[in-house]
Amino acid sequence: MDNSAYQFLFSAFVFILGAVVGSFLNVCIYRLPRDLSVNKPRRSFCPVCKKSILAHHNLPLISWILLRGRCVNCGSKIAFRYFGVELLTALLFLAVWQCFPWEIAIAYWVFVSLVVIGTFIDFEHFIIPDQITIGGTVAGLIASFAVPELMNTDSRIAALVRSALAAALGYLTLLIVLEAGKLAFGRKRIRLDAPTPFTWKRHGEDADFAVGAEQSLWSDHFAREADRLLLQCDEAKIDNHTYGSVTLEFYYNRVVIEGETIELDHVNEISGMARELQIPREAMGRGDLKFLAAIGAFLGWRAVLFSIFAGSLLGSMMGLVTLVAGKRVWSAKLPFGPYLAFGALSWMFFGEAFLRWYITLLNP
Ligand SMILES: [Zn+2]
Repeated sequence: MDNSAYQFLFSAFVFILGAVVGSFLNVCIYRLPRDLSVNKPRRSFCPVCKKSILAHHNLPLISWILLRGRCVNCGSKIAFRYFGVELLTALLFLAVWQCFPWEIAIAYWVFVSLVVIGTFIDFEHFIIPDQITIGGTVAGLIASFAVPELMNTDSRIAALVRSALAAALGYLTLLIVLEAGKLAFGRKRIRLDAPTPFTWKRHGEDADFAVGAEQSLWSDHFAREADRLLLQCDEAKIDNHTYGSVTLEFYYNRVVIEGETIELDHVNEISGMARELQIPREAMGRGDLKFLAAIGAFLGWRAVLFSIFAGSLLGSMMGLVTLVAGKRVWSAKLPFGPYLAFGALSWMFFGEAFLRWYITLLNP
């Protein structure tokens, strides 16, 4: 066989490997945030009817197309995400294979897999599980020791030290940004021009929350246990109890009013006139700090700085786009993990080229 045929076959193999890994990543994306084991049950199951999916209906990429994105058993739609993650992983595996020597490529396959899982879980649940972030940092340290070229050195010990320092840099830099950001943007205050009617109405497990014309789902405002939403009212009514001028201090499952705590489970309707609203909006969680540590452990300190820079840039651009598009502004939750992931992958593929360009810019 001539060289190009050999290379084509190998590339095809890498692509298929990526799709198979992507199929496993889908399992992790579904199960990790739900505290389900990733290897028990062994077979994938339909998220709706829970029936396990037969092996010949579980071929990466192909099955989703052949079954037109539906479960064989119950016919319910299987999210495009499943296909998308398999395709994305296959393409990333192939790109990594084409761009890097094989030892580095294998380490980057592990990294890319962690990034894909972290990103998609963050999109859906606004968390990145420790298995991915702390596990990823440990994996990055091991990878750097095994393949010191990842840290641009021949010495295993030097690589391990650099990897650890980059992880620490990632964690600490974001910690500072997070703490500073809490002071500056941690809460968003919305002063209403005039007293505005608001309602909170139970709706199954969730509730509809409306202030003036702005409608939202209750759960959209709370990403973490400690998140707090303050509502300054001229008057408020909780079920049949009426209050005068009060501040309602909401947590996702309870409201504190004049020192008294009421479980929202026992409430059907809250209404009143609001003057000011303070909604929790942390752009980042602790998961992001650990996620950036993992990025540093695999890609080094420059990748940490670049990921923050590129991630914030893309994040503000997206924020601007949703603002211009007239999407809900104050109720939008913003996961930061996917932006960091974007920055990290950009660095992985284009970091060297970017640096060369930057240096010529400084020394014309
Ligand atoms: Zn089904």
